[in-house]
Amino acid sequence: MRKDRSRWLIALLAAVTLLGAACGGGGDEEEDAGGSGSATETETGSEVEEFPANTTMGKIQQKGELIAGVKYDVPPFGFIDPQTDEVKGFDVDVAQEIADRLGVELNAIEAISDNRIPFLKDGTVDIVASTMTITTDRDVEIDFSEPYYIANGRILVAEGTDDVETLEDLSGKSACTALGSTYEGLLKAVKGVDVQLPETYGECLELIQNGSVQAVVTDDVILTGMIIQDDTLRLVGEELTVEPYGIGVPEGDTEMKEFVDGVLQELYDDGTYDEIYQEWVGQYTDTETEIPDM
Ligand code: GLU
Repeated sequence: MRKDRSRWLIALLAAVTLLGAACGGGGDEEEDAGGSGSATETETGSEVEEFPANTTMGKIQQKGELIAGVKYDVPPFGFIDPQTDEVKGFDVDVAQEIADRLGVELNAIEAISDNRIPFLKDGTVDIVASTMTITTDRDVEIDFSEPYYIANGRILVAEGTDDVETLEDLSGKSACTALGSTYEGLLKAVKGVDVQLPETYGECLELIQNGSVQAVVTDDVILTGMIIQDDTLRLVGEELTVEPYGIGVPEGDTEMKEFVDGVLQELYDDGTYDEIYQEWVGQYTDTETEIPDM
């Protein structure tokens, strides 16, 4: 599994490098330094607030690390850089900013769609930053920050699939999404679709590439990451859903939720969010930074 990921991620990294060059992303090195792996700015400024020991923030400070559940196979939001073996991406940078403001290291472990809520509930992770849509069902089990990114559901097809525009067009065909994603229910509700539910999106990519499924259905940013790796794939049809991403925190932990919301507000105000957005989304899609309403 790990080897398979490395193979396609090497292809991705090559594509990302090419795209970066094509888009004239000259400021990338600087942005990298402020992203995953470097927490110096806030730390050297010694502006880190010390939180009471009985708060979640205080406990994280005591143990010296923020454990965040992120994706490992979903560029550009969370993926392993095969050259350095580091976890990178939009979600990873947001989690890094939260760790920086607590003055602790980030420990970004893999949280797939199906285990991110169990991981929060059993304390495996402190937060989840894993392309996770805020839904009312999930909100019963955990708490969410305010939205920090708005994705949209779309359909991805391979070359030669010319008769798919809507979910209903998938009837009589096989379609893939990740187990535990918002699209699991959406696809199962469409009559006649053979729904494939692997644990990861990397597996969905393999299934559409080897012809086992005719479509992948999930967030546009995840599908765009697949197209960066394989430009024979393409998006079809309209936006299916609106998917506001939230940082997951343990249920009922209002202080932690408010702390994370405060960090997000700072990122919007000081321009850091704009840098993260442009580095991971804007330069590939040619879009201006969109800050979700808090
Ligand atoms: N944003 C959707 C969700 O939270 C799809 C992406 C994912 O599976 O992480 O279910």
